Amino acid sequence: MATTTVSQTLNRGGAFLIASTGPEDVFTPADLNDDQRLLGRTIEEFIAKEVVPHIPELEKHKEGLMAELVRKAGEVGLLGAGIPEEYGGAALDKVSSVIVSEKLGVYASFTVAFGAHTGIGTIPLVYFGTDAQKKKYLPKIASGEMLACYALSEPQAGSDALAARARAVLSPDGKNWLLTGQKMWISSGGFSDLYTVFAKVDGEKFSAFLVERGTPGFTIGAEENKMGIRGSSTVPLFFENAPVPKENLLYEIGRGHIVAFNTLNAGRFSLGASCAGGAKQVLGLSSKYSKERTAFGKSICEFGLVKTKLGEMAIRIYALESMIYRTAGTIEGAASASGTDKVKQAMQALEEYAIESSIIKVVGSETLDYCADEGVQIFGGYGFHEDYPVARIYRDSRINRIFEGTNEINRLVIIQMLLKRAMAGTLPLISAAKKLAEELLSGPSFEEAPSGALAEEERALGQAKKIFLLAAGSAVEKFRDKLAENQEIVGSLANIVMDIYAVESSLRRAQKSAAAKGQAAELMAGATRAFTYDAMDRVEKEARTALAGVSDGDTLTTQLAALKRLAKHAPVDTIALRRRLADAVLSQDRYPFDGR
Ligand SMILES: Cc1cc2nc3c(=O)[nH]c(=O)nc-3n(C[C@H](O)[C@H](O)[C@H](O)COP(=O)(O)OP(=O)(O)OC[C@H]3O[C@@H](n4cnc5c(N)ncnc54)[C@H](O)[C@@H]3O)c2cc1C
Repeated sequence: MATTTVSQTLNRGGAFLIASTGPEDVFTPADLNDDQRLLGRTIEEFIAKEVVPHIPELEKHKEGLMAELVRKAGEVGLLGAGIPEEYGGAALDKVSSVIVSEKLGVYASFTVAFGAHTGIGTIPLVYFGTDAQKKKYLPKIASGEMLACYALSEPQAGSDALAARARAVLSPDGKNWLLTGQKMWISSGGFSDLYTVFAKVDGEKFSAFLVERGTPGFTIGAEENKMGIRGSSTVPLFFENAPVPKENLLYEIGRGHIVAFNTLNAGRFSLGASCAGGAKQVLGLSSKYSKERTAFGKSICEFGLVKTKLGEMAIRIYALESMIYRTAGTIEGAASASGTDKVKQAMQALEEYAIESSIIKVVGSETLDYCADEGVQIFGGYGFHEDYPVARIYRDSRINRIFEGTNEINRLVIIQMLLKRAMAGTLPLISAAKKLAEELLSGPSFEEAPSGALAEEERALGQAKKIFLLAAGSAVEKFRDKLAENQEIVGSLANIVMDIYAVESSLRRAQKSAAAKGQAAELMAGATRAFTYDAMDRVEKEARTALAGVSDGDTLTTQLAALKRLAKHAPVDTIALRRRLADAVLSQDRYPFDGR
């Protein structure tokens, strides 16, 4: 194997860049147990029966309907997934909660309302609430008696959330926090009962508060007129000396950023999973339509340029899904390791794998955008008409690149977190980069070449990791602690990191399936080969861009020569692979690797 020797100490977030994982170490959809599969079917039925028939009314904002449907989800036990059993929840494992997010992805407005309640609206309380706060609110949240949401953004403070202007001062009698300020873009804000609101104590110390609907001085603005997710509620909130009981301060004064960012880690992961569900839906719809629609005497699915779209959608969803389930398995493993404080462990696991969560958020939202866009294209003029669901899916998809941290912010976060861990010595990236530099100086390496099926992809993965170390190592050496100011280079590095995680996750899943003689193993190998081939081209280009921004003269020439050597990969007939995948999609009008 071309990368640093695996070590158990590298069993942590971001370590995939320097360590190698075996197929047996990754969780895949084929590993789902019967309960998890049953949960998936239950949600599919719930959505098909209770939500989909109401989409036209929901899109027109029928008063009270979305809240009613979220409550209905509570009746069938879907709202308590992330809540401990002692507070009335179901305490589902991470893999199960991924299934919930993914299956809900078929109607984005419902996903947002559901996620605002069960995700960002509930997580702050679960992870940071006192026992009294949890006892008071969580059972009602789990049953749907109370609906929850999360109010961080302000008109002038979105990405830069800590620039919030909302403030809280203690009332003269010391009994209440008096909140003043405005929040903006609050999902489900129009109908929620409990709001996690962030404000600065005395205008300085960023803190979180639990605010109930009906609090005097707290008013809810009109629904925003949005491009997409029109069925969801998005409103501004206004606070004018609104008294919030002192005991409703969440966590500690001045530690609101810990609450806010840990909540977003969880939200990002769920968002990526729901994007996978949405993308699968577009693929199914596109496949069906491409068989029904004829042009030039043929079904349009027979045209190579339509097939390539279907094949590419399947490939990208496969890579995304492989990352999602792998990460869910890893987080679940870390969260359920021996220990007594399960809630704390779950939060620490999410924090540990925050890099992977950001990757999944970015790749998920961009995969869904790609599929929605190509879906519209396959539908032609009809795709541009609101009578066809792809038009709505296309509009709905766009928000995913903006909320839960824009994709720009998440790209920055991926590299910032990696560097922080490298500098702290918890992730030995620096020694790996040094080792690579020595290796490159000492000429061609005589490492044992990978063998067997997918050997070329295995080799490419190892090389991609070296390319990252080459580019990142040079960037850090030149800019040191000023690297963050060179955002274009950071963006290129983040793109390389995401492709490495996607390639490795796809490859391990295909290998695991082959070892288990899985029915779809050969097709998965094809998806992996096509994805890896294109990923290597992207990785090379991003590294070239980064290196040219870092070095010049002889140094750059030497680095580019090394890059060329590392990025060399054997030609693959990706046209044939995409056609085969498209045929597999067309044979059942669906994504071919579901649950496999
Ligand atoms: C439909 C909808 C629902 C939402 N739901 C919620 C919710 O429930 N709760 C909540 O608190 N918020 C919510 N939001 C707010 C959302 O999280 C913010 O819109 C998002 O964080 C971006 O902030 P902004 O809109 O202020 O954009 P800005 O922060 O102004 O960003 C504008 C552009 O500048 C870029 N940019 C900003 N800073 C940097 C930087 N440092 N480096 C490089 N590029 C940068 C961004 O990536 C973006 O492209 C929602 C928003 C929408 C539209």
